[in-house]
Amino acid sequence: MKIDILGYWGGYPTRGGATAGYLITTDEGQILLDCGSGVMSKLSLKSRVEQLSGVVLSHLHYDHMADVGILQYAVAGALRNDRMKDKMPIVSPSEPDDKWQEIQSRQSEHKKIEELSAFTMAGAVIEFLAVNHTIPCYAVKITYKDKVFVYSADTTYLESLVNFAKDADLFFCEATICEGSTHTAGPGHMDAKEAALIAKKANVGKLVLTHLPSDGNFELMKTQASDIFGKEVALASEVDSYFL
Ligand SMILES: [Zn+2]
Ligand SMILES: [Zn+2]
Repeated sequence: MKIDILGYWGGYPTRGGATAGYLITTDEGQILLDCGSGVMSKLSLKSRVEQLSGVVLSHLHYDHMADVGILQYAVAGALRNDRMKDKMPIVSPSEPDDKWQEIQSRQSEHKKIEELSAFTMAGAVIEFLAVNHTIPCYAVKITYKDKVFVYSADTTYLESLVNFAKDADLFFCEATICEGSTHTAGPGHMDAKEAALIAKKANVGKLVLTHLPSDGNFELMKTQASDIFGKEVALASEVDSYFL
């Protein structure tokens, strides 16, 4: 499987960037994991809506779902022009209710994460873990051909994430908090050291810090995380693709 980062800023993007969005490609299809602000613009560089097997949203904060309405416009066009036959499957938490209602449309078929255990999309097995954020939020594990990719979504340090990410080949973990940063100081997040501690305890193969603060000291974050993880840590970027 291949993982492309479409957007990685926490809260709001910087110029030309996007908030959370990750494109997972298998031999059998593509999954869009989170669809934040600017993600549809970035998706156009790598794919088209008709190539997506479905969309998974970790939670219903705007930096993870702001572009869902835009995606649905693209789907509406694809359905009208026979580039798509079926509605777009979208899997997400069903809370908060006002946000859940907001993403319903004639172009999409919605499933509630709360009612799913594991399910298959694009030939990959997808599992969820409820994490600790300010609204219902789920970490996501994607397993394909014995390779495992885990995404923390937005959360505080959580011991159960260690088990969930155990021995994952690739772990994208949020690191929103950084000393000196004024980007966002909201609750429900981690810093680079906490992300690295989870990665270390879980014995993951590779750690990528994501959901970054625009004014973060990225060298410091990398150093702090690498010291704890014991291996080099990468920062999310739009140029790197990860192959598992
Ligand atoms: Zn977020
Ligand atoms: Zn959030």
